[in-house]
Amino acid sequence: MLKDPLKAPYPGLGEDHPDTYWAATAGPLAGDDGPLKEDMETDVAIIGGGYTGLSTAYFLAREYGIRAVVLEANRPGWGCSGRNGSFVMSTIGRHGYDTWVEKWGMKTALALYAEGKAALATVHELIDVGGIDCDCQPEGLLKMAHRPSRITKLEAEQKVLAEVFGGHSELLDAQAIADTHFQGAEAYAALRTLGNFTLHPLKLLNGVLILARAAGAVVHGASPVINWSKDSRHHVLMTPGGRVRAKRVVMAGNGYTFDGLHKTLRGCHLPVLSNIIVTRPMSATELAESRFVSTDAMLDTRHTSTYFRRLPDNRVMMGGRGPITATPSGLAAHRQALLNVVRTKFPALGQITADYFWDGWVNVSYDYMPHIHHAKDDVSVHYAGGYTGKGVAFSLHAGRLLAASLTGNSTAHPRLPFLSPMPRYPLAAFRRLGQRALLMWYRYLDEKD
Ligand SMILES: Cc1cc2nc3c(=O)[nH]c(=O)nc-3n(C[C@H](O)[C@H](O)[C@H](O)COP(=O)(O)OP(=O)(O)OC[C@H]3O[C@@H](n4cnc5c(N)ncnc54)[C@H](O)[C@@H]3O)c2cc1C
Repeated sequence: MLKDPLKAPYPGLGEDHPDTYWAATAGPLAGDDGPLKEDMETDVAIIGGGYTGLSTAYFLAREYGIRAVVLEANRPGWGCSGRNGSFVMSTIGRHGYDTWVEKWGMKTALALYAEGKAALATVHELIDVGGIDCDCQPEGLLKMAHRPSRITKLEAEQKVLAEVFGGHSELLDAQAIADTHFQGAEAYAALRTLGNFTLHPLKLLNGVLILARAAGAVVHGASPVINWSKDSRHHVLMTPGGRVRAKRVVMAGNGYTFDGLHKTLRGCHLPVLSNIIVTRPMSATELAESRFVSTDAMLDTRHTSTYFRRLPDNRVMMGGRGPITATPSGLAAHRQALLNVVRTKFPALGQITADYFWDGWVNVSYDYMPHIHHAKDDVSVHYAGGYTGKGVAFSLHAGRLLAASLTGNSTAHPRLPFLSPMPRYPLAAFRRLGQRALLMWYRYLDEKD
């Protein structure tokens, strides 16, 4: 069962991937350099071997000739990167496009939009350069009005996308959704955007791991950082098998980072459980009746968004918010709740059962934006995280941006809102209480009218 990063000093020691659909279908995975077994010295140490950490290591090696050492508590990709919902999106943070100009002004909003597209380009580049076979599906993301009253929101979003950002999108009515995507409920209209797509997240992770090691990075699995101190010249990272003395450190543990690991990010993270179920394959009759033929990524207009897709072997993947902490009863209730969502959205699947269920910590930042920055009083400590559930593309891109800023080569627009310190939660000790209250409020908003 997942430990709460607000309390547990490290996420685990050498744990294998959980029993996800992704782990069951990834095929043989690449190895790493094994647990750290002796003290060593390095220029750059990276804490966390997910997309952020491995991408940073890859770009540091490829672009700047720096052979970083990645310290991963468990198996590379054990965190969100190997168990996510597989949507590769250009979205950055949680604020709708319709609020960007008001929040940050036109110039910054346009730069942010371009950066979201650059994140997609980074994913495509990694896949191409590494020849990564990760079951990429055709592009397409449907944002579904789960109530008729939400259609106006989608119309407003389409207008802003077209008029401000020059983005192409299509508004589908209920009949068009039924004709070309699936026959179901809670689908009164949908905004369809291109560029976004789905893939096999663990196969992608495995490919990035291979790329990073081939470029010269060293990746130690089963090596949690359990203590961090500093001597006159180095950071000293203690793992069970040895110490790493590093000139610079990148914090890439994201939602799995212990709140007390380093003062820089203390009180800045809110790890929120997200759950996923994968059903058994649909029978021929269920497939014919649900007409679930779409390969698009799909989510709905709820604040506590549910996200789903049809997998290549005709299973349905459904994801949504989990309990506040991972208890057996809370998880069992959420497993059943997700199955009920499948049955509600797809009335033809009333008898479907789930073969897989798992959870993971999504990292929600206080301002709902990712942040790539360094410690206030120490530029030798960099970090990226807080992707708020939109991190497949952006974390891989963040690794690229981190590598550039760590080496003084950043060409990114300096006013991009994510190039700023991650804000601390007010009354951080009470984050779980605040989360509980917010969740109740969102549930009320989502189901009213
Ligand atoms: C269920 C779920 C569904 C999601 N679906 C989507 C989606 O469809 N689309 C999308 O864009 N985003 C999605 N996300 C979010 C996305 O997966 C993440 O934003 C992204 O993978 C973050 O990558 P990361 O490398 O920063 O963090 P992670 O992949 O979480 O990696 C962090 C790693 O750091 C390690 N670590 C932490 N502390 C230490 C320590 N002290 N010592 C050593 N190692 C340490 C952990 O073991 C972990 O492996 C989802 C997340 C979850 C949980």
